[in-house]
Amino acid sequence: MPDYLSGMPLLVSDAIVLHAFDYLESSRILRLATREGGVRSALAKGARRSQRRFGSALDLFAQGSAQLSTKPGRDLDTLTSFDVAASRPGLAQDLGRFAGASAIAELVLHFSTEHADPALFEAIEAALDAIAGAPHDRAVDATLAGAWRVIGALGFTPALAECAECHGPVDDEGTALFSHAAGGVLCPRCSRLVPGGRRMPADARRALRLWTAGQDAEPFDVPSMRAHQRLLREFLQHHVVDGRPLRAFELWERDVWGLT
Ligand SMILES: [Zn+2]
Repeated sequence: MPDYLSGMPLLVSDAIVLHAFDYLESSRILRLATREGGVRSALAKGARRSQRRFGSALDLFAQGSAQLSTKPGRDLDTLTSFDVAASRPGLAQDLGRFAGASAIAELVLHFSTEHADPALFEAIEAALDAIAGAPHDRAVDATLAGAWRVIGALGFTPALAECAECHGPVDDEGTALFSHAAGGVLCPRCSRLVPGGRRMPADARRALRLWTAGQDAEPFDVPSMRAHQRLLREFLQHHVVDGRPLRAFELWERDVWGLT
């Protein structure tokens, strides 16, 4: 008897494939971001034996309507159907875009939970759509924007408009210190008291404010993009508590993908 007829609760939700790997001889295990059920693991039985059952729906970053049979206390759902609505072919056609999307997926898999979070789902969806549609030389900007939007949806938005320590005003112009430990920019007084941090020019802070609000910023030159990638990596590392490395993120950051 199929699982969906056996009385197991059914979750029907928009879902995005964030990770997929082969399981036993004929199946795949997926990590899915879902609108109604958070990030979940699901077994797609027979997915490799028959293309008919799931078709191209189980490709990385595909999005559609998923039916999952769930069981309280069990970590692995069973995927009973997946109707693909968007396969995002732009991500598979360009290494820079693919690396960026992989970094976003890794970020989500690191920090999210099984709690329903429609705002997070929409941030992931928007980030992947923007990266898939970005020109080759703007894939890094699109990934930076998407990553900060996802970080905002996860509730880690850094303080940018006021001092992260004393909540006093921070001048919009000029350079300000960004402290990962404090969780944002610092006023001149607190900058002298908090060790470490990176000096951020006004245009970099402006971009960060736009990105965390889900908006686009002006395109950056390569050195500025590099600085933003480094800041984002340090920010994530500060929030990683389990010590797992961010491998997809490191790959995205290390390779220039044709940008020189
Ligand atoms: Zn301060």
